[in-house]
Amino acid sequence: MSNPALTAGATIGILGGGQLGRMLAMSAAQLGYRCHIYSPEKDSVAADVAAKFTCASWHDKAAMQAFASDCAAITYEFENVPVAPLSALSGGLLTPGTLPLEVAQDRYREKRFIEQLGGRPAPYAPVDHDTELDEAIRQVGTPGIMKTRRDGYDGKGQWRVETSAGAAGMRVPESGLVYEGLVHFDAEFSVILVRSRLGEVRFWDSTRNIHENGILARSELPAPAIVAGQVAEARALAQRAAEELGYVGVMTCEFFATSTGPVFNEMAPRVHNSGHWTIEGAVTSQFENHVRAVAGLPLGDTASLSARMVMDNLIGPDALDMARHLSDPAAHLHLYGKAEARAGRKMGHVTRVG
Ligand code: AMP
Repeated sequence: MSNPALTAGATIGILGGGQLGRMLAMSAAQLGYRCHIYSPEKDSVAADVAAKFTCASWHDKAAMQAFASDCAAITYEFENVPVAPLSALSGGLLTPGTLPLEVAQDRYREKRFIEQLGGRPAPYAPVDHDTELDEAIRQVGTPGIMKTRRDGYDGKGQWRVETSAGAAGMRVPESGLVYEGLVHFDAEFSVILVRSRLGEVRFWDSTRNIHENGILARSELPAPAIVAGQVAEARALAQRAAEELGYVGVMTCEFFATSTGPVFNEMAPRVHNSGHWTIEGAVTSQFENHVRAVAGLPLGDTASLSARMVMDNLIGPDALDMARHLSDPAAHLHLYGKAEARAGRKMGHVTRVG
């Protein structure tokens, strides 16, 4: 790509206004950039730490144009940004582009994409109509998980199916479902990579990720031996995916470590919750390297600063007990500034290194 690197003072646009955007904006500020957040939600914890905020619908063409004309580069922190309005952004402004969004927004397309690259997702079947529910469950078997094809995150839009009659009364939404067989795994892990404009790829160490109720609760290093033994294969797949997508920036692939090797779960075309530990635990954080890649700067070292590290998510109403978190002087506390602490809502995280 021939675009010059962004100079200090330039404005980076971020589509999406949540905590990932907030931490991206803080890293961008460290490198001397300003951030302009675009989000349809008026309460934006990213906007709280950014120079500018446009609160408008994704489909507001005038607002999107004005936003684009203010930014030297634009990226996203949220994979469900609708793709159609982004076609108005002129060539090269959006990094990574729209293709990673198109693939990651549709669980069925994402699984087929990974299979074409030689990867192995859980057994699955698409369900487009109510009449296809029983056949999909018969084909894949039980137990399994019915998932919405679009707009699912943090375990939302998912239902366990225990028996062949488990879909009785279920209605298939217009955007469809995917039925997945339940994977018996020893551990879950993620591969987080960054790819530069020049195609250089670097990986952070893979953490073991522990989920509770479909939400990430903890990421920890070192990962158990079964994960360590499967990281090379998982990295090779993630790198092929990034190359196929012409990806620039940080990308995450989540895997199940099983007795027969890594099983692909899903990909996120963005910085990821299981990489928050890199702020204190790696030479260069996922947020800084994403900003560097988007800005066309050289990538930073992704090496871990310690072999031992734990990142705990702070979820729900109990999360804001600062005195308790800070009673450990080695704890790095991050609160996202969300006013309302609802059950299941990610309010912050705590990282302990070493
Ligand atoms: P997802 O939003 O699809 O990543 O699902 C959230 C979490 O639910 C995953 O991290 C797993 O802990 C669990 N999960 C999802 N799909 C499966 C599956 N096919 N087999 C076993 N566990 C699953």
